[in-house]
Amino acid sequence: MWFTIKDEILLPSNTSEDSRPISQIPALPQPPLNPDYHYNRKLQQLLTGKQLLLNDISFPLNEIQSHYENGYVTYRQGIVYKGKQPACARCGNKEQQWFAYYPCARCGETCLYCRQCIMMGRISGCTPLIGWNGPVPNTAIPLKISQWQGTLSQGQLEASNRVVEAIHQNQEHLVWAVCGAGKTEVLFAGIEAALAAKKRICIATPRTDVVLELTPRLKAAFPEITVASLYGGSEDRHLFAPLTIATTHQLLRFYHAFDALILDEVDAFPFTVEESLQHAAIQARKPVSAMIYLTATPNEKWQRECRSGKRAFITIPARFHRHPLPVPEFVWCGNWRKQLQKSRLPANVLRWIHERIQANKQALVFFPHISLMETALPILRQFAPTIEAVHAEDPDRKEKVQKMRAKEIPLLLTTTILERGVTFPNIDVAVIGAEDTIFTESALVQIAGRAGRSKDHPNGKITFFHYGKTDEMLKARRQIIEMNREGHKRGLLNH
Ligand SMILES: [Zn+2]
Ligand SMILES: [Zn+2]
Repeated sequence: MWFTIKDEILLPSNTSEDSRPISQIPALPQPPLNPDYHYNRKLQQLLTGKQLLLNDISFPLNEIQSHYENGYVTYRQGIVYKGKQPACARCGNKEQQWFAYYPCARCGETCLYCRQCIMMGRISGCTPLIGWNGPVPNTAIPLKISQWQGTLSQGQLEASNRVVEAIHQNQEHLVWAVCGAGKTEVLFAGIEAALAAKKRICIATPRTDVVLELTPRLKAAFPEITVASLYGGSEDRHLFAPLTIATTHQLLRFYHAFDALILDEVDAFPFTVEESLQHAAIQARKPVSAMIYLTATPNEKWQRECRSGKRAFITIPARFHRHPLPVPEFVWCGNWRKQLQKSRLPANVLRWIHERIQANKQALVFFPHISLMETALPILRQFAPTIEAVHAEDPDRKEKVQKMRAKEIPLLLTTTILERGVTFPNIDVAVIGAEDTIFTESALVQIAGRAGRSKDHPNGKITFFHYGKTDEMLKARRQIIEMNREGHKRGLLNH
C-alpha cells in the first residue's frame, strides 16, 4: 500500500503527490489508543499476536484503517530498508538473490518482493504487516485445567519440573530426550502452568504429521481449553487460542504472540536449513517469554554449549521402559555400491536380511539414496516377495507404513524419510552404507532410536553396514553409550 502522512496519521493513498510505498516512509506514526472506541472483537481475535497481510484479513480496508486511527491496529513495513539494503520483516531474508521485482497490481508500480516466504503470501515494498495494539481477548480458564491421567517416569518428571520452572521464569531450556523417552508428556505440566498463569503458549514443530498427531492428544489432556491447530490449509487460522499447535512455517504469521514457545525437533528438517524459521520463532515470542527446545539429537554446536555450561538443559537419558538404548554394531561390508551396480549385495548384508526373514523378525533397512534402494529391492525380494520400499515422494508411503505396522510386510527398505516419527514395536534396524554423508550423527542416532521402543521388546538389533567408519558413525554410537551411562548413573535404568 501507499500512504501519505497527515496530522501524524498514515492515510492510504495512491494519488496524492507525497504518497509513498510503506517501505519508503522512514518513521511510521502510531496514533494513541482511544479508550472510547468500539473496536471489533472479531478483528481483535484475528489480529492479536499476528502479523498479517491485507489478503489474510476479510475485513474492509476502511474498518482496518479506522482501527489504526484509533490506535488499535498497527502497520509495520513488510520490507525494511537499511540504507539501500532490503530485509524481509516477516522471514528475516536479507539475501539479494531471494528478492525480485514484479509489476505490482496493488500499487501499479514495479515492486520489490521477498521470494523466500512467498508461500505465505507475497510481501513487497508496498505491503504493510498488520497487527493488533489493543487489549488482548479474554480467555476463560477453567479451575481444573489438565485432565491428563498418565504418570511420568522419573526421568520425565525431572525434565517436566525444569520445563515448569523455565516457563515461570521466562527462561530458555533445552530438553534433550532420547528417542522413545516420551517427550510429549513432559510438556503437560508446563502447559498447565502457563495456562494457569494466563499465558499464551505454542508448540511448534517442523512437520505437519506431528501437528496432526499432537492435536487430539492435547485436546484430550486439556478438554476445556481452546486449541488452535495450525498447518498449511488448516481451518483454525482465525481462531484466538490460549494453546496453539503449529508447524514452524505458521509461526511466520505471528508477532510477539507467545509467553511460552516450545520448539519440537529443533534439529529436524526444515528448521536447521531454513534460517527464516528460526527468525520466525524468535519473532513469534514476546520479548519477555520462555522458550523450550525439545530434541533427541541436538547439533554439535548445541552439544558443545551444553557441555561448556553455556546452554541450560536437561537430559532424559532413558526410555520409559527403563531398558538401555540398543547400541549400534558396525559391520564392514566392502564396496557395496560397486556390488549393487552388478545387481548384487554383500554376502554379510544378505545373510543379515535372510536371518530376519527366517526368524520372522521385522526390520527397517535404510539406504542413503532412492536409486540404490530401488536397485536393491528386486534382489531382496528373492527372500520374500512382500518386501517393500518407501521414500519421501512415494504416494503409497502412508499405506506401506500402515502395512508394516500390521506386520504384512516383513522388511521395509527406506531412505532417511523414516529416520524419525515412526514407531514399530519389535524391529531390527540396518543401515546399508552408513558412511554416506547423508547419515549424520543426528540421523544415525534417530535411526538407531527406531529399535527397542516397546516395553515387551526393548532390545532390537542395530547394524551399520559400512565401507569405512566415519566420525559421524563414531559420534552417534558414543552419544548412545553416553546416554546409557548417564541413565545408569541417575538410576533411571533397571540393570
Ligand atoms: Zn506494490
Ligand atoms: Zn520474506
